[in-house]
Amino acid sequence: MHVEGLAQDTLCIHAGQAADEVSGAVMVPISLSSTFAQDGPGRHKGYDYSRAGNPTRTALESCLAHLEGGKHGIAFGSGCAATSAVLFSLKSGDHVLVGDDVYGGTFRIFDSVLKSWGLDATFLDMSDPGAVRAAIRPNTRLLWLETPSNPKLKIFDIAAIAEIAHEAGVPLAVDNTFATPMLQRPLDLGAKLVVHSTTKYLNGHSDVVGGAVITSDDAIADRLHFLQKSLGAVPSPFDCYMVLRGLKTLGVRMKQHVHNALIIARFLESHAQVERVFYPGLASHTGHAIAARQMKGPGGMISFDLKGGLSAATAFLKALRIFTCAESLGGVESLAEHPAIMTHASVPPETRRALGIGDGFLRLSVGVEDIEDLKQDLERGFHAARNLV
Ligand SMILES: *Cc1c(COP(=O)(O)O)cnc(C)c1O
Repeated sequence: MHVEGLAQDTLCIHAGQAADEVSGAVMVPISLSSTFAQDGPGRHKGYDYSRAGNPTRTALESCLAHLEGGKHGIAFGSGCAATSAVLFSLKSGDHVLVGDDVYGGTFRIFDSVLKSWGLDATFLDMSDPGAVRAAIRPNTRLLWLETPSNPKLKIFDIAAIAEIAHEAGVPLAVDNTFATPMLQRPLDLGAKLVVHSTTKYLNGHSDVVGGAVITSDDAIADRLHFLQKSLGAVPSPFDCYMVLRGLKTLGVRMKQHVHNALIIARFLESHAQVERVFYPGLASHTGHAIAARQMKGPGGMISFDLKGGLSAATAFLKALRIFTCAESLGGVESLAEHPAIMTHASVPPETRRALGIGDGFLRLSVGVEDIEDLKQDLERGFHAARNLV
């Protein structure tokens, strides 16, 4: 199907997913074969070995590329594998400038894996683009950021930072996991690479671990295809199918996530037991104006400081019945977690303190359930934490 010019809601369902030429199957078939017949040596239909290329994976990669407005999609076995592949395109002695608030596993790749390979990383608050310009070194080869960031929901100005990266001749990579292409398209704003954990909103049903990189730069794409094949962290055909299936409803899901999260953020902001709410959709958020400019909606993630510290936070999480106390995010079901103990335990305590990820700091992934049920559930949590304030 010719999908050029179609809207995001249509691309989710159709991009890369023409009906099967052999059978007419409407859903992309799961191609399990590890190898592909060749007419003669080196004469094949575009596939020779499934690590290098697979038809189900191609469909997923094409759909993701269309959604992000990029030319190339490269899928991986996890978000961390996608991140690693991007970083493996650098070499020892290179320097990377990284937003100071990133997914704990991303921090771990920089800090505990690639540092010993000679890759140098500086973490800084990119809220001030001037500080980003000042931190670029002669050996800086990549800028990396998340916006909204995990878990503080900081907003960084993609266009302004992309401009600085461009001046310095350095590519900007944006981890777009929290926003998804439905709400934010970093390539349109000047980023060179978009990275995703498809585990989250893109699949949306908490039953796949996967990742992807999207770019319009042919040279970067060639290198990443080479690394995908060489490092081998590829997603299974079944997982590719699952993400394609999840993507079909990405449009409607994101609308409901945003709708519910906005109501919950306002509810939390007005609650006596809440110290502070972090949600880009609130006027009180420092990045509100930039978010309104670069995003189509503020997303489904909220974090907040609960009064009463660790004992209150623990009681709160234990009392919830609809929100599940679990890591991860972006599924249809609501989740709640304690970053300092759970997702961001690999971030050093002093860094966590500097970022303000304290004992009463909680993160919500607001699902698509009924909003009144969700509010009542949070009331249950507040009730359990009340005596502990
Ligand atoms: C989960 C996550 C990752 C890592 O993805 P995995 O699929 O768990 O490897 C990277 N970035 C962000 C923002 C995430 O939330």
